[in-house]
Amino acid sequence: MATETFEFQVEARQLLQMVIHSIYSNKDVFLRELISNASDALDKVRLEALRDQDLGADVSDLHIEIEADRETRTLIVRDNGIGMSYDEVIQLIGTIANSGTAKFVKELKGAKDEATAEGLIGQFGVGFYSSFMVADEVELLTRRAGESEGTRWTSSGEGTYTLERVEEAPQGTTVTLRLRPADTEDQLHDYTAPWKIREIVKRYSDFITWPIRMAAPTPPPAAEGEAEEADAAPREPETLNSMKALWARSRDEVTDDEYHELYKHISHDWNDPLETIRLQAEGTFEYQALLFVPAHAPHDLFSQGYQRGIQLYVKRVFVMDDCEALMPPYLRFVKGVVDAQDLSLNVSREILQQDRQIQLMRRRLAKKVLSTVKEMMTGSPERYATLWGEFGRVLKEGLLSDDDNRETILAVSSFASTHAPEAPTTLKQYVERMKEGQEHIFYLTGESRQVIENSPHMEAFRAKGVEVLLLTDPVDEVWVEAVTGFEGKELRSVAKGEVPLGAEEEQEKGEEREQRRQEYAELLSWMGGQLGEDVKEVRLSARLTVSPSCLVSDTHDATPALENLYRAMGQEIPHSKRILELNADHPLVSGLNKAHGERADEPALAETAELLYGMALLAEGGQLADPSRFIKLVAERAERAL
Ligand code: ADP
Repeated sequence: MATETFEFQVEARQLLQMVIHSIYSNKDVFLRELISNASDALDKVRLEALRDQDLGADVSDLHIEIEADRETRTLIVRDNGIGMSYDEVIQLIGTIANSGTAKFVKELKGAKDEATAEGLIGQFGVGFYSSFMVADEVELLTRRAGESEGTRWTSSGEGTYTLERVEEAPQGTTVTLRLRPADTEDQLHDYTAPWKIREIVKRYSDFITWPIRMAAPTPPPAAEGEAEEADAAPREPETLNSMKALWARSRDEVTDDEYHELYKHISHDWNDPLETIRLQAEGTFEYQALLFVPAHAPHDLFSQGYQRGIQLYVKRVFVMDDCEALMPPYLRFVKGVVDAQDLSLNVSREILQQDRQIQLMRRRLAKKVLSTVKEMMTGSPERYATLWGEFGRVLKEGLLSDDDNRETILAVSSFASTHAPEAPTTLKQYVERMKEGQEHIFYLTGESRQVIENSPHMEAFRAKGVEVLLLTDPVDEVWVEAVTGFEGKELRSVAKGEVPLGAEEEQEKGEEREQRRQEYAELLSWMGGQLGEDVKEVRLSARLTVSPSCLVSDTHDATPALENLYRAMGQEIPHSKRILELNADHPLVSGLNKAHGERADEPALAETAELLYGMALLAEGGQLADPSRFIKLVAERAERAL
C-alpha cells in the first residue's frame, strides 16, 4: 500500500530536534519509556476488553517482549496491547497535545547550558521520542485491538515521518529501533547486549505488572570446532521483571530507587519525586496507597485539561488513570497509586464519585498528605520550602474548598511578610512575633510584592514596626474572605476598615483626634459631596504617615481585586464604593483644609480634591477612569510651580 510522508507538528519537530541534539546523559531511560508505554497499552486493552465484550481483542497472553540483534543493530520492543489506529498514530505520535509543550519548548530553546536543558527535558519527559536519543531510525508497527488493518510509521526524527496502511499486523505495537553506531562500539551502551537489557529492566521497570520477556538471542555464528549441541537446545524467552507491586511489598523490602522508578512510570516525570508517602489501611475496607509529591510543578497545573495523577488499582490490577475521586482538587499535584481490595474491576467514575467508602478514602488520603507536609516543615525544612514554592498556590485553594482541613492547611502554609523579605513565614511564627496589644494578623493583598510594599496602606504599620503578610497569589484575594482567623487571631486587611493599631496608644490620642475631626469636619463632608460618585465617605486616616491620601474598602466589602476576579470568572457582583482617607499631617491636606475654610467655592479646590482621589488610586496600583484629565490637572499645577 502507498506510503505517505507527513510533517511533524511544529512543537513536536522542535522537541525532537532537541532530544536528538541534546546530550541527555542517561540514555538508558529510553527503554523505560517504551516499556512504560507498552505497559499502559496492556492495561488499556484489558480494560476495554472487559467493558466491551464485542471488541474482539485477544487478551489471553498480554505481555511485553524485547528482542535484540547485535548484527543488525536493532532493538525491538513489542506489546500485544491496545495499539493505535491510523488516525491515532498521527494524533499521538505526530503531535504533542500537552498544553504546556509550547512553553516548555521555548524554555528549552532558551536554556543556557546543557545542564539546564537536561533538567528541563527531565522535568517534562519526552516519552516515545526519547527513542531518538539512541536510534537514528525508528519504526512503529501497530494495530488497534479489534481492527483488522494495521499502520506502519517510520521516522529518522528529522522533520518528517511516513505512514503506510498494512494488511497484516499483530495486535498491539512493535517499536523497532535502529541503534546509532556509537552505541554498539561502546560496551556500556550496547543496548543489544542481554545483560544491559536485563539491567535496565530490573532497575527501571521491575514493578511493571505485565511480564517483560526477552527473546533468546540469536546465537553467534558457531566458532570453528565448537560443539553444536549447545545451540540445539530450545531457547525459552526469559522473564526479566518480578512484577511485584511495590505497594504490596513490605517497606524494608523496597528501595527508594524502586519507589522513584514507579513514580516516573506514573508521572512521566524523569526526575525523582520530592517525597514518597505510604499508607496502609486495614479493616473492613482495605487499601494501600503509594503517593508521591513531585519536585517540580508541571507546566499545566493550572490549565483546564490537567490530569490528576492518581491511578486506581483493584487487587493489583490497573483500573483507572487520573482518578479524581481519590484526591481533592487542591492536592491535584500528588501522583501515585491506590490499590483497593473491595471494588469491582468494572467500577466507573460516576460510581466512585458517589461511593461513601471512596469519599472516606479521599479524606484519609488528603489528611495523610497534609500531615506529611506538616512533618516536612520541621523534619526537612528545605524540602518543605521546595514543596511550598512549587505547590503552595494550589494548596491554598484548599482553604476555600476543604472546611475539614482548613486549620491544617493554614498551619502548613507560608507567606511572604514584611518581617524578613527573603524567608516566608508561617502563621504560627507570625503570632509568636506579635507585639504587645496586637490582636490581629495583618495582611495586604495585591498584584506584586513591590506594589504592596509601596502601598500607602502600609505606612503606619511600617512606622510602628507591625508585621504585615504580603499576599500576591490570585487565590489569596479569595481565601482571605473565607478564613476568619488562626488560633483565635483574626485576619485583617490593612486596606480595609479602620486600623486597630495599639489600643492604648489610641486612647491617649483620642482627644487629639477628636479635635482634629472637628477641624476637618467641613472639608470632609464637602469632599464627600464632590467625590460622591466614586467614594462613599471621606475621613481622616490613622494609617498614613507619608502619603496624602489612600483608598480603603469597608470591612465587609469586596476589594477591587476580588471584584475583578469574580468578573473574570463571569460572575456579576455589585461594585462597592470605597472610602477615601486623608492624612491630616500632609501639607497638601492641611493646606486644602485651610483654603477651604477661607474660600470654599474656588474651582481649584475641587480639582485638588479630585487629585487626592486620583493619587490614592494610583498609589495602590489602581486605574484612573480618565487618565488624560488627571495628567492635565497635574501638568497645570507643575507649570504654575515653575
Ligand atoms: P506519553 O506516554 O507521555 O503520553 P508518548 O510520546 O510516550 O507520551 O506517547 C504518546 C501517546 O502515544 C501515548 O499517550 C499513547 O496514547 C500512545 N502510545 C505510545 N506508545 C504506545 C503503545 N506501545 N501502544 C499504544 N499506544 C501508545
